[in-house]
Amino acid sequence: MERKTRVRFAPSPTGPLHMGGVRTALYNYLFAKQRGGDFIIRIEDTDSQRFVPGAEKYIIEALNWCGIVPDEGVDAEGRVVETASERHPHAPYRQSQRKPIYRQYAEQLVADGFAYYAFDTAEELGAKRAEMEAAGQTFIYGQTTRMGLRNSLSMPEAEWKELLETRTDWTIRFKMPENRVVKMEDLIRGHVEVNTSTLDDKVLWKRADELPTYHLANIVDDHLMEITEVIRGEEWLPSLPLHYLLYEAFGWTETQPRFAHLSLLLKPDGKGKLSKRDGDRLGFPVFPLRWVNAEGEVSRGYREDGYFPEAFVNLLAMLGWNPGTEQELFSLEELIGAFSLERVVKSGARFNAEKAKWYNKEYLRKKSVSELTDLYMPILESKGVTGFSRDYVEKVVTLIQERATFVADFWDIASYLFVAPKTFVEKDAAKFWKEENYTLALKVADFILGFEGEFTKENLEGPLEEYIRSNEWPMGKVMNCLRLALVGASSGLGIADIVTLIGKEEFARRIEYIKTTL
Ligand code: GLU
Repeated sequence: MERKTRVRFAPSPTGPLHMGGVRTALYNYLFAKQRGGDFIIRIEDTDSQRFVPGAEKYIIEALNWCGIVPDEGVDAEGRVVETASERHPHAPYRQSQRKPIYRQYAEQLVADGFAYYAFDTAEELGAKRAEMEAAGQTFIYGQTTRMGLRNSLSMPEAEWKELLETRTDWTIRFKMPENRVVKMEDLIRGHVEVNTSTLDDKVLWKRADELPTYHLANIVDDHLMEITEVIRGEEWLPSLPLHYLLYEAFGWTETQPRFAHLSLLLKPDGKGKLSKRDGDRLGFPVFPLRWVNAEGEVSRGYREDGYFPEAFVNLLAMLGWNPGTEQELFSLEELIGAFSLERVVKSGARFNAEKAKWYNKEYLRKKSVSELTDLYMPILESKGVTGFSRDYVEKVVTLIQERATFVADFWDIASYLFVAPKTFVEKDAAKFWKEENYTLALKVADFILGFEGEFTKENLEGPLEEYIRSNEWPMGKVMNCLRLALVGASSGLGIADIVTLIGKEEFARRIEYIKTTL
């Protein structure tokens, strides 16, 4: 019988989620939803030394912002579920709360001859490592060294059994088979083979904190949670042979999930993994949300930088996947329909900051004026701008929507529609505010102020241009003089747009100001 698709995103709360991590979550989500399956969030927090307070909350909030909503693992309020229920049959979803589950599985592997107890202290291992390095060799705990170390394979039974009782710092290690070729299938990379001779005996469980390591917890939970596909970053590919062997050792190969390893997100120049430093250097975020670490160091976020979640999701989806057509804009719903692992690229996906902005600009263009106005109002308030009606702000937004990439750009593009310029761009003024131009411009200003029809852009624009043309005055120079008065620079919106918005009174004030200032 075909099993119901169940995939999981299994972050470790060791810091903020990198955008590559969000992409992994997104691809899992798309894969599940396309197949009518379940998307599960599991928190892999068994490494207490790397635990970072606030990271779990950050991860869930980031996924929420993107609209990546799990079927299991997190409740409607965004809390990781701790007790099982009909909707959350596999709770708890935090591995630290599943602690009692893992030991029996580790012990079972020992009993079946797939793992062993190891008693070497950190100092002993350190000394062994130093000794081998001095001889020009690298140390791994594995098939070539294990019999010379202190474990239940190398020691007499009575001796290790006593240590098992009396010591609390032992571990259970996987006994990597010798010289076996592990044959693996990856949904993105195809067939992969690895010889076990180079692989070490990984620690699976630690008596000291009675916690499993990532490998054991991950395999046991994927099995118990009935995961059908594991879609994760390629940094886990080297662990795949061990994971295959663990499924085999447990006798779970029948229901073993299929694997897909996603390539890395690369720096804009394609050389190496995209890092926070690249973002800082080139001026773009690598995290979905802003993050402040324990030292107070701030990492910028897409959300705080003014990206729309739809644009962020869209650009992430396209980093490493393509639909095979020219289409670039996809809503989350459309992505669910179009996504396929077959079209995920094997090579790394290069990040392009300009393209990221392009996506936001496209989404901004598609937004309703009303929604953009809602977003712009608080920005205006933060600039100390008050006293303008919503209707007025909507008119402004309509005029500049096409020119902006972010809502915050509205202010830079057209703050002069709210506050009069107090200074004038020097080189623009030097170029245009000359007597031969401004005497004409002032006549045009009088024409505008005396305009008798209804004062709208549509009414004013034609007659205004006609007036200048019929007098054979230089259109560009005259308009730029007026723009200087209205904007403070020789660039900006059309004169008819500006004056009909701000009104005759304000226009007259600005003309007066420039006359007396320049
Ligand atoms: N906890 C692992 C991580 O943080 C999960 C890897 C996996 O998906 O198996 O990436």
